[in-house]
Amino acid sequence: MRLLLVEDDTMIGETVLHVLRAEHYAVDWVKDGNMADEALRSAQYDLVLLDLGLPRRDGLDVLRALRARRSTVPVLVATARDAVGDRIAGLDAGADDYVVKPYDTDELLARIRALIRRSAGRGEPVFEHKGVSLNPATREATVQGQPVSLSAREWAVLEPLLARPGVVLSRAQLEEKLFSWKDEISSNAVEVYIHGVRKKLGNEVIQTVRGLGYLVPKQ
Ligand code: CA
Repeated sequence: MRLLLVEDDTMIGETVLHVLRAEHYAVDWVKDGNMADEALRSAQYDLVLLDLGLPRRDGLDVLRALRARRSTVPVLVATARDAVGDRIAGLDAGADDYVVKPYDTDELLARIRALIRRSAGRGEPVFEHKGVSLNPATREATVQGQPVSLSAREWAVLEPLLARPGVVLSRAQLEEKLFSWKDEISSNAVEVYIHGVRKKLGNEVIQTVRGLGYLVPKQ
């Protein structure tokens, strides 16, 4: 899953970046409203954590422009504890939820998981499909009830596919979920991690659709 972190405070930004990366999210960090707008126009994100008070362009303005483009990416706005007005303005401008600063990191992560889950059209917290189950909160994977240890990147390719059985994701779309801007990507990275998942979970879990990409079959 790929997240955009929009935060102009360097100390807060570094802390959040560290927390999110430790949870194996691919994270891009921008520090002003113009860069946020640019990033949102150029890449596909699974979630945006948006500070509202930003240099160069206000967070609310970035959010309104995003929704005016009909983007449905989940947006979590970050506001100060006493700033009720900001929270209301953020929600009314198209945010899906808010978090208050200073962050409780466990709460932040839980809200992120909940929003990603909702945006995939799911209510239940665990991905389950044909005997494979992934629990994003505990990072536990099982096959037919047996625990399996997946690497962070194997998890990162499997999760978006398992979230929407029957939907094909291209190699480029999976790369976007695996890596942020700074990462060096080898051309066969996605294949390598898919191969790893198949070795651990069986060949039939992820199917290759020639010329298009990969999917978890519906039936
Ligand atoms: Ca700020």
